[in-house]
Amino acid sequence: MTHSTGTLYIISAPSGAGKSSLVKALIDIEPQICVSVSHTTRAMRPGEKNGVHYHFVEREEFVKMIEHGDFLERAEVFGNLYGTSQSYLQQTLDEGHDLILEIDWQGAEQVRKLMPQARSIFILPPSQQALRDRLDNRGQDSAEIIDGRMREAVSEMSHYVDYDYLIINDDFALALDDLKAIFHASRLQQKRQQQRYGKLLAELLG
Ligand code: 5GP
Repeated sequence: MTHSTGTLYIISAPSGAGKSSLVKALIDIEPQICVSVSHTTRAMRPGEKNGVHYHFVEREEFVKMIEHGDFLERAEVFGNLYGTSQSYLQQTLDEGHDLILEIDWQGAEQVRKLMPQARSIFILPPSQQALRDRLDNRGQDSAEIIDGRMREAVSEMSHYVDYDYLIINDDFALALDDLKAIFHASRLQQKRQQQRYGKLLAELLG
């Protein structure tokens, strides 16, 4: 039996743009889409689970993994190391699953070079004020800290030009529709449909 190779998607966004919620909602509807669980050296946040949100590892272990060539891409973000497992990625795509990497622009740049067939999506907030409100939703941080987060977000957002698709997350349901449309259209590509419907095509043209 022939099966199609899955499509690799890169999704980036500044923190506060709603990327994780959108991806979660997408895979609730389309559970056949896989999401890569990255390795990171950052501390676990309340509510996070090892192996689910991230594989949480010590810096020493992360460095060993780099030396073993375990990562397809890796980057330092806000002083912590993050990386995507090469073997998980290859196996998932070979099995024909679509796979999402939720990574920053530095990782996206590396993946684009190694796998130019990857599709990349950038998610933006509807305004600077909306972003500030989302970064400030706990109301516990000083204006200085929020300003710092805003600067980081603006710097991340400046990379949107390198991405294939742009989604503005103003209305969540509409942004989710946009995201679904990208995945659907990709599955309808002639090459993928040819692999999926080989038998039908042979019959129709026979
Ligand atoms: P957080 O620590 O808030 O979960 O993520 C911080 C940033 O690191 C986000 O922009 C996120 O997309 C990025 N990130 C998470 N995992 C990876 C990864 O494996 N590689 C890269 N390059 N960035 C990642």
